[in-house]
Amino acid sequence: MLSKVLSKNSCAACKFCCSFRRKSLWETPLFPHEIAEKLSHENEYGMVGEFRMSQTVQGVRFDRLVLENNYRTDDPEEEVPCTFLDPQKGCILKGDDKPFDCSIWPLRIMDRNGELVIALTPTCPSIGSTPGENLVELVKSGLGEKIYEYAKTHPYIIKEYHEGFPIIEIGSL
Ligand code: SF4
Repeated sequence: MLSKVLSKNSCAACKFCCSFRRKSLWETPLFPHEIAEKLSHENEYGMVGEFRMSQTVQGVRFDRLVLENNYRTDDPEEEVPCTFLDPQKGCILKGDDKPFDCSIWPLRIMDRNGELVIALTPTCPSIGSTPGENLVELVKSGLGEKIYEYAKTHPYIIKEYHEGFPIIEIGSL
């Protein structure tokens, strides 16, 4: 969804957003329940994920990928890759199996004291810490609308606002 501002090649070479330190576990991918159900058993990708199953927000079920058990050291800087990251090819998930959150990263929809905002995660090595003109234009010309629409039916993607995340658009559901 961000291919106009973020090339597939640079994402494939980087993979920063697909590896997680302990302090980044709040960012691990969230899956619609039926997709997590499929991916937690033998599937076409040949990779079975461990999920924290059946959480709900506003009655909508979702599941979080569990990576907590994969750390091998006590080093807070240790990163563990997402279960569905192939070191050579990148994300192995296709179509709707890939979490919406992952498709819009480094954008996030966040709740700032009851106000919904679309904000930039300032740590993406390719985009940088401030939203450029092209990214702002992309959000304002339709992508923002798409994110708000998805959040209406999948409210679990709305994260609590984090200080330091530049706000691109303020909206409502
Ligand atoms: S699901 Fe795919 S895009 Fe999302 S973190 Fe895992 S490997 Fe990366």
